[in-house]
Amino acid sequence: MTPELARTALKKYFGYDDFRPQQLSIIEHVYAGNDGIVLMPTGGGKSMCFQIPAMTMPGTVVVVSPLISLMKDQVDGLTAVGIRAAYLNSSQRGNESHAVEQAYENGELHLLYVSPEKLLSNGFFSFLRRRRVCLFAIDEAHCISAWGHDFRPEYTMLKQLKTAFQDVPVLALTATADRLTRRDMAEQLGIPDAKQFIASFNRPNLSLEVRPGQKRREQIVRFIRERPEQAGIVYCLSRKQTENLADKLREAGYNAEAYHAGLSADRRAKVQSDFINDKTLIVCATIAFGMGIDKSNVRWVIHYTMPKNLENYYQEIGRAGRDGSKSDTLLFYSYNDYTTLKDMISGGGNADIQLAKLDRMKEYAESLACRRRILLNYFSEDHSDDCGNCDVCANPPERFDGTVLAQKALSVVARLRQSVGQGMAIDVLRGSGRQDIRKNGYDQVKTYGAGRDMSSYDWNQYFGQLISLGYLYVAHEDYNKLRLAPAARRVLFDGETVELVKFQIIKDRKKQEESKTAKRAAAPRSRGNLFEVLREVRRNLAREAAIPPY
Ligand code: ADP
Ligand code: MG
Repeated sequence: MTPELARTALKKYFGYDDFRPQQLSIIEHVYAGNDGIVLMPTGGGKSMCFQIPAMTMPGTVVVVSPLISLMKDQVDGLTAVGIRAAYLNSSQRGNESHAVEQAYENGELHLLYVSPEKLLSNGFFSFLRRRRVCLFAIDEAHCISAWGHDFRPEYTMLKQLKTAFQDVPVLALTATADRLTRRDMAEQLGIPDAKQFIASFNRPNLSLEVRPGQKRREQIVRFIRERPEQAGIVYCLSRKQTENLADKLREAGYNAEAYHAGLSADRRAKVQSDFINDKTLIVCATIAFGMGIDKSNVRWVIHYTMPKNLENYYQEIGRAGRDGSKSDTLLFYSYNDYTTLKDMISGGGNADIQLAKLDRMKEYAESLACRRRILLNYFSEDHSDDCGNCDVCANPPERFDGTVLAQKALSVVARLRQSVGQGMAIDVLRGSGRQDIRKNGYDQVKTYGAGRDMSSYDWNQYFGQLISLGYLYVAHEDYNKLRLAPAARRVLFDGETVELVKFQIIKDRKKQEESKTAKRAAAPRSRGNLFEVLREVRRNLAREAAIPPY
């Protein structure tokens, strides 16, 4: 199995001349029998990373996918180009699945798609052993992690795969996983040392804008009026909202429909196909809309209310501009939306993780730094230039050369060996006489007291900016200690300058923040170490599923 062979299969079955970035390295990695984690945005071409091995390696690629509806579409698409693919899931009749099982046993299948339930059902492993599996591809692999935004308990059983089939490589693929989710994913799948392949998440053709959420409907009508004949999606929080807004837009003379899970299947299929065929220009939808919709000329996406996390946000705005042409995205934000969403997070197992993710979403919406930097840094992409295509870049707040300030902050983190949280780092900078500072000898480090000229409050703000800008990150899994990102090296050693936002503007928010803190303090929920919470989640799950605790 060689790169040439892979390239020939790409041309022969799919008609493409070249691999996209990362695809070939991933395929070669699989050829060599290695496990891997693939992080690639939606539409990036993840499937090719297991479809080419399926066409070139002896044996069958087993694809685990949680989305039964998409499974059929994928298999139909592959069959149409002469690839022998089939699926097994709980929605099938006995004779249907029997034919598929027979085909597998006869060694006739390149690809076998299965739902996680099916894969882990009784006797399925020994069925698979009757023939040869050359690769397990776990699609939407973020579902395995409680850190992820779309956690599915049934996925946690997939750990058994690597134990049962030690020689078969496992490839975990996802479009949405921050650093922690990826690490957890690897651990959960029993492939902690798997190489990670991260493709770029940057979509430079999408403009990013956040506006205060006042008079949203009027703003939306104006937005649409400025974009005649363009297709777009407005994401709403509730079914009622989608209907009200669609009514309002129709009254204003626009061609709009509502879409949500409460509509009949026929109705939903019609709205969807009318949108794809350009019969309906505007869809007001809940997040139920969009999965598997392949429409390249969506010119704009509006969020009537803020999504729960940046993963969802990225995925939803990503439905615009698939053809690469300039497209606009607009997010409405108000502090009330934040509290509404917060109240919707119930006390379930991973409530704290959801809260932490919601906070990152809010920081994005409130940010005074380039929004694309924040978004890309969230997906662990080291992106250090302002994008020029977001509202902050278009109308920048007052900035100053914050290099010296940043050097102090970064070097105190470095000198404290990246083993303290933000509060301690700031206390050391401010030369605090805290007892544990003396005890740990932190008063001996060179930057002790180097930041006496600023209040803790100011330092907190600037640390926040350094995190948003990707110079520092928070190790939630390790008592929220601050860690240096690669960009920090450039500031400390290579003379990179750092522009920060003068934060007088932010000061007005202090009151808001204070009342928020008071409310939070009153809440009974502990906001302790997230890693502890995750362990607890796992313990509960293990108990429910009667598998040995992790
Ligand atoms: P993902 O699963 O990452 O969301 P898909 O695997 O569905 O993305 O691929 C999205 C589209 O990109 C598909 O239409 C696929 O045929 C196309 N594609 C994948 N790889 C290539 C390539 N090397 N060259 C051109 N198009 C590609
Ligand atoms: Mg996919």
